[in-house]
Amino acid sequence: MAKIVDIEPSIKRFKEIYVESFHSDYVFAGFNLGVAQYLESLPQMEIRQHAHGNWMRCIGQSSARCSVCGYAVPDVSMISRFCGNCGAKMDGGL
Ligand SMILES: [Zn+2]
Repeated sequence: MAKIVDIEPSIKRFKEIYVESFHSDYVFAGFNLGVAQYLESLPQMEIRQHAHGNWMRCIGQSSARCSVCGYAVPDVSMISRFCGNCGAKMDGGL
């Protein structure tokens, strides 16, 4: 199973231990700084936690709106399990 780790605190701690504490040993600190820079250069992706919402039928109309962001679909037949605008999981029903 893949695991997701917030690497920023780890890089910060790595620098504190292995770069800043070895400031008198330029070779070792330089090597460790290179490691920290490599870690910072790794591809990153932003993880967004999905909000949960529901489609709210607009009174007197066939349209519906997302309860999270207000995004409207022109007809309730077009609603889906996720909001097309904010990505909220629409598990609250219509
Ligand atoms: Zn939305």
